[in-house]
Amino acid sequence: VTPDNPPVAAPDAFLGLDIGGTKLAAGIARADGKVLAEARAPSRALEGPDSMIRRLVALGRDAVWDARLGTTDIAAIGIGCGGPLDPERGVVLDALNNPGWVDVPIVAMVEEALGRPTFLENDANAGALAEHRYGAGRGVDDMVYLTISTGIGAGVISGGRLLHGANGNAGELGHVSVDHRGRRCRCGGIGCLEAYASGTNIAERAGMPSAEDVVAAVRRGERHATAVWSETVELLGAAIASIVNAFNPRRVVLGGGVTRAGDVLFEPVRRIALQRAMPQLAAVVDILPAALGERTGILGAVAVAVDRRA
Ligand SMILES: [Zn+2]
Repeated sequence: VTPDNPPVAAPDAFLGLDIGGTKLAAGIARADGKVLAEARAPSRALEGPDSMIRRLVALGRDAVWDARLGTTDIAAIGIGCGGPLDPERGVVLDALNNPGWVDVPIVAMVEEALGRPTFLENDANAGALAEHRYGAGRGVDDMVYLTISTGIGAGVISGGRLLHGANGNAGELGHVSVDHRGRRCRCGGIGCLEAYASGTNIAERAGMPSAEDVVAAVRRGERHATAVWSETVELLGAAIASIVNAFNPRRVVLGGGVTRAGDVLFEPVRRIALQRAMPQLAAVVDILPAALGERTGILGAVAVAVDRRA
């Protein structure tokens, strides 16, 4: 705690909890996105929900303490977690990222532990809210966020609001099919965008340990890696053109580890997406890098708490 980080008066402090593929994160922020404290810990593969949620709650308590607050000062708690899930009931149905997480009543568990109103959202939807409110989507009402990392998550902001769909799972744009006879996806679908363009799948298609290795090989001019990468950016560009045609966004915001490739990704993806989208829709859209980096998880969960409490 530093002198320029004074305690805030309730109820403008929110606790964000994020369950990622490789880490847990907890943070306290105000409704305007000012982060007051944050804490992170690795998530363990195959760790069961009881143990992981206990550690997440402990991390949340650490963040509350670091912000010099008590849990009663927290207006609400948001949780971002991989789907599919039921945001209304607060239940993780069958997390693709966390094997063994089936019908986990995470909201009830966190509310019981911390005693504050708690709300659950798909982590990519939460990320879309965070970029819309605090990051690269500020100031526009229509935006699509894609996070391209081990998987591909997405969220859609339409008319200033997060699109939820019939049972809270809208915006799974990593699982739009880009090849109806294509690669089998972990979701059970065929030819999903994720089955080609997620970090894991880029690496697998190139026969390399990671997508970073593929990008490095592309920069060295290696032929096979370059061919795989060209196909990847073409599929991404085509999928983004379809997304632009479906939602008519002002901005498409791309985040996640794979986007650290920078211009090698953004230049061809922009060109291909704008060529393929309908001209009237292509004319108003910008394709931009996400702005929040490793704070996306925390700020997304906080944005969920701010939104749903209201
Ligand atoms: Zn899929």
